[in-house]
Amino acid sequence: MPELPEVEVSRMGIAPHLEGQTISQVIVRDARLRWPVPDTIQNAVGNDVISVERRAKYLLIRLSNQAVIVLHLGMSGKLRVLPSATPPVKHDHIDIVLNNGVCLRLNDPRRFGACLYQEPHEPPGKLFANLGPEPLTDEFDAKRLITLAKGKQVAIKNFIMDNAVVVGVGNIYANEALFMSRIDPRRKAGNVSAKRYTVLTESIKIVLAKAIEQGGTTLKDFTQSDGKPGYFAQSLNVYGRMGDPCFICETPIKSVVIGQRNTFYCPNCQS
Ligand code: ZN
Repeated sequence: MPELPEVEVSRMGIAPHLEGQTISQVIVRDARLRWPVPDTIQNAVGNDVISVERRAKYLLIRLSNQAVIVLHLGMSGKLRVLPSATPPVKHDHIDIVLNNGVCLRLNDPRRFGACLYQEPHEPPGKLFANLGPEPLTDEFDAKRLITLAKGKQVAIKNFIMDNAVVVGVGNIYANEALFMSRIDPRRKAGNVSAKRYTVLTESIKIVLAKAIEQGGTTLKDFTQSDGKPGYFAQSLNVYGRMGDPCFICETPIKSVVIGQRNTFYCPNCQS
């Protein structure tokens, strides 16, 4: 599943091809995504793309008429920029065709992704209500975690994955940030010291920024029809390494399920 770094890298990959261009056509081959693609998406035609932004894991294509195309990659969505005449393959559900001869193409085998159209001046709606701050901004700091965690019985891992606390800390990066902070993912959020929250806040920022940096090397893939954009090889310390030796102490990495998500930690380094 694409996490925040993959979505940010997708944004970086597609933005230069879209910004400043005019949308000449929107082709919907299959509207049955997570929510039906609205017919109003056709109102995007004739507008310029002002910017491509990201909020949590949503991509926001801002148009000259003040409308916004909202994209989400769901479980398996991929975006590519291709010559608009490129024949579609299976699961190529949507093309946003631009006047520079390319199109933004959404491929999504599992169809949990989304393509919505927010009318000019329409409020952002419930998708964006209750979202916490972006993790890589100053709005996300240790003070916020310390305040919100007071008295919380929930596991620290679930706490930092809660979008109301901070957006975009998915399963992989929650595991990695807790390892970097030496915090046991099962520990209650209300039972983590202020000092450790300061370390955890920094760790979350570091693992996400590092993943975006690693993904940045794959940007050219967004214009290759055979590429696998949005996913990149990463150096992970605990995620997916059950039974393998910890890189610090060589203790085998353990796995437990917390909040229905696979969780990996070193029983020696983390407490
Ligand atoms: Zn260890």
